[in-house]
Amino acid sequence: MVDLELTSDQQLLVETVREYMANEFAPTIQENDTNHYYDPGTFAKLGEIGLTGICFPEKYGGSGMDYVSLGLASEELEYVDHSFRTILSVHIGLCGCGIFVWGAEEQKQRLLRPLASGQKFGAFGLTEPNAGSDVAGLKATARRDGDSYILNGEKTWVSYADYADTFLLFAKTDPDAKHRGISAFVVDRDEAGDGLTTTPIKHKAGINAGDTGSISLHDVRVPVENRLGEEGEGFAIAMSSLENGRYTVGAGAAGTIRACLDYSVKYANERQAFGEAIGKFQLVQQMIANMYAKYEASRLLYLKAGWLKNRGESSNRAVSLAKWYACDAAFQAASDAVQVHGAYGYSDEYPVFRYLRNAKAPVIYEGTREIHTVIQGEYALGYRRDRTPRCTLPGYEPEPEGVLV
Ligand SMILES: Cc1cc2nc3c(=O)[nH]c(=O)nc-3n(C[C@H](O)[C@H](O)[C@H](O)COP(=O)(O)OP(=O)(O)OC[C@H]3O[C@@H](n4cnc5c(N)ncnc54)[C@H](O)[C@@H]3O)c2cc1C
Repeated sequence: MVDLELTSDQQLLVETVREYMANEFAPTIQENDTNHYYDPGTFAKLGEIGLTGICFPEKYGGSGMDYVSLGLASEELEYVDHSFRTILSVHIGLCGCGIFVWGAEEQKQRLLRPLASGQKFGAFGLTEPNAGSDVAGLKATARRDGDSYILNGEKTWVSYADYADTFLLFAKTDPDAKHRGISAFVVDRDEAGDGLTTTPIKHKAGINAGDTGSISLHDVRVPVENRLGEEGEGFAIAMSSLENGRYTVGAGAAGTIRACLDYSVKYANERQAFGEAIGKFQLVQQMIANMYAKYEASRLLYLKAGWLKNRGESSNRAVSLAKWYACDAAFQAASDAVQVHGAYGYSDEYPVFRYLRNAKAPVIYEGTREIHTVIQGEYALGYRRDRTPRCTLPGYEPEPEGVLV
């Protein structure tokens, strides 16, 4: 059976989030982007409509909705700006889902509940100055010392590093091992003390209304009870968190394409050239038709991935495809939207250039375009199998050494 109709709860969610974003955030986003300003009240406002714990069960402080709802909300947030969707990606997809999937019951109550209820803002620190795609090459260390670990190292390009209260961080408990030497830790900024410092990354090319920063760890003491999973399970935890993050990134990209389509249709109907609306020219129609096709395809891909996740079925391949396709498509759609707007598109007078600047980042993060291309090639050729019987449950087997993530 194929059923593409949203449930009444999902429909209500879309209407609520769309209206809220239009009233609360759309009026100021262009100005904030121009001023490179993240409004620190944003996270709390998203919590007001239940988004900070959207897909987590109520018993952990969440809103009890499903993965499709998480995708739909991601689309609506990115329709207004990437900076909003990025909050869902790191707070829920990368950090919260990591704890939800891998945490013991006590950890879910103690560490997930404050995140889901919006009391604490979560972020995810995997990337290092010399290790991005090559996760197994990370150099941060976690040395056991009695009932604690001592963390040292540098994390960079961490979304919302400067505003997060809770970090899901990855460090080597066995520095000589590759991916099997990585462990995962939930680190609270206040408990970490002066050893944990964050610094914003300045002069980014886009997502200027959001924050990206570096984390420096200097002899940060983390209690053993904040280790997620077993020692050596960090790589598997990172991959499982990334899968949930990527899902929101792919869904968000559909929002960018829809925004580019809407702005382009409006402009093409208004702008006159050679005595008629530019929308009457077939080459302009081609760009707009491509945006529509890309939107439909991207939305179907993320909805399928969300459907698989709701059913507890393997979704790695579907999520990677949705993320890869939709992010590439969003970047192309934004580029075409600027083209439709002509010289006016090449400025901040219209929002489309902001979407173009923003749309480049998702082609790089949560698995670059090249990494997802190789992943899809490997699946198609039979070199890679979806080995997670239930992607939302622990038990995910780490990929063999050397396999791309
Ligand atoms: C705005 C933004 C926000 C981010 N937020 C976070 C965050 O919250 N947390 C976090 O941990 N990280 C975050 N990142 C980091 C991001 O995940 C990394 O940038 C990404 O994993 C790529 O790593 P890299 O930049 O080191 O590039 P590299 O891995 O050095 O890659 C450089 C180039 O080489 C290519 N390449 C590398 N290996 C291969 C291969 N085997 N085959 C083919 N091509 C290859 C890549 O595709 C790319 O084109 C963020 C990045 C950005 C831009």
